[in-house]
Amino acid sequence: MKGIYLHIPFCRKKCDYCDFPSTAVWDQELLGDYLRALLQDLKASLPTWQDYTIYLGGGTPSILPPGLLEKLFSTLKDLLPHPLEFTFEANPESITREKLEVLAQAGVTRLSLGIQSFNDRHLKVLGRVHTAKEAREKAEMAREYFDNLNLDLIFSIPGQDLKTLKKDLDTTLSLAPQHISAYSLTLEGTTPLVRRTERGELIMPSEDQWLAMFLLISQELKGHGFRRYEISNFAVPGRECLHNLIYWENGEYLGIGSSAVSHLNGKRLFREREPKGYVDQVLKGKSPVVEKEVLPPWQKALETALVGLRTTRGIDPKAIEDRWGVERNRLSPILEELQAQGLLEQVGNRWRIPDELLPVANEIMAKILD
Ligand code: SF4
Repeated sequence: MKGIYLHIPFCRKKCDYCDFPSTAVWDQELLGDYLRALLQDLKASLPTWQDYTIYLGGGTPSILPPGLLEKLFSTLKDLLPHPLEFTFEANPESITREKLEVLAQAGVTRLSLGIQSFNDRHLKVLGRVHTAKEAREKAEMAREYFDNLNLDLIFSIPGQDLKTLKKDLDTTLSLAPQHISAYSLTLEGTTPLVRRTERGELIMPSEDQWLAMFLLISQELKGHGFRRYEISNFAVPGRECLHNLIYWENGEYLGIGSSAVSHLNGKRLFREREPKGYVDQVLKGKSPVVEKEVLPPWQKALETALVGLRTTRGIDPKAIEDRWGVERNRLSPILEELQAQGLLEQVGNRWRIPDELLPVANEIMAKILD
């Protein structure tokens, strides 16, 4: 199975923690041009894959008006008629009943809603533009149209404690989604959140508080029938996100749109980062690919091991060595050494990070790189 990712980089406002390739600087003309370029680029790059997923992410894809969504979906139906999964990312402030109807009609099978928190104070700290009330209402509305709904949450927000996190989890569970992503807030780049914490206006939770929140999420979600299948992702069994599983297997995917990354035939391709630059390149008939990276086999094998260890399924070192043409038994000794230190466990022919060590997964991965 392979993945097709389409990037819509536009947002109503840049969130205070956001270091992703997205922008709040756009107008209707740019939206129209961007969509034209996106579809042109897709047509020119389209692989002949049989089994594929589609993921429309951002940015905020739900910012597109219903007319542009219809245009996008009608072309996608011609080009990619049989996706195994079709995910659309939406945010509460811009998803509407009218748009949900368009999505459902177009064959979107999975809606991912960027809730982040149901607490207005925390939403404000994050610089989100929606309110808790709007988040609840839109999640309820989305459930009327989709039986495969993901709610995105953020934890470890300045000012958050176990009580407010528990409330967020209770509200999330009461909305009966099939999938929940719970990401830790991180300080990246030079975002307003980074500057405010540097000035001492906001204080990030301590390591102990972070750990207590991480454990509370695991306990609550598992107690309500969710299975963790990746460090930050939980699903009702059978509702794991197929598209994201491709990334965690270091599989092949085509990324279309500004700043999109592809992984094809062992190469990584990077597209023009700025939306306007991307539109210019594509509409002038030029390739928007600005960089190609070819990693040596051992690097590929290591990369595959690292992303795979994020999943609870873990990795099969022999399969990884064979896939990238690395000599046998190069990866296993590294894993055995970490097992001797109690940092990895072996289940059959697969290796994984034990559940109780998932909070320190990054440190374990750093040891593999060492
Ligand atoms: S909505 Fe998402 S992509 Fe857009 S600014 Fe906020 S965090 Fe970034």
